Amino acid sequence: MTLVPTRGAEAARVSSATGADDAWQRDWAPLSRCADQDPDALFVEGKEQRVAKIVCRGCPVVAECLADALDNRTQFGVWGGMTERERRALLRAHPHVTSWAALLQAMRAEGRGPIRSPADVAERLSRPS
Ligand code: SF4
Repeated sequence: MTLVPTRGAEAARVSSATGADDAWQRDWAPLSRCADQDPDALFVEGKEQRVAKIVCRGCPVVAECLADALDNRTQFGVWGGMTERERRALLRAHPHVTSWAALLQAMRAEGRGPIRSPADVAERLSRPS
């Protein structure tokens, strides 16, 4: 038995040509880069997490995945290109955020391009509002 949540293992990979970069995807898991990967590969520890995060680069639903993990306080695994430690730090730094999905969706709607990585999120959060 596995306790690891799946991210749409049966789903097909979809390129950015589908519009996944532009529209917020509620059913994001089937669009992920890791959809056809062994889910255990994202639930590693230590230095292996750096390797695990490589799959998130260029994932068309990195913002959706990250928001899901942050909003659900997902404790384990790499989600949205961030380790659990990195997500905890982000949550501590921004305790006022009640919906990361709404926040990241709003960031995307600003028209400053897609959110492709946690670095994009950090950069936009650092801007004065
Ligand atoms: S951001 Fe990473 S963990 Fe999340 S769906 Fe994409 S590839 Fe999978």
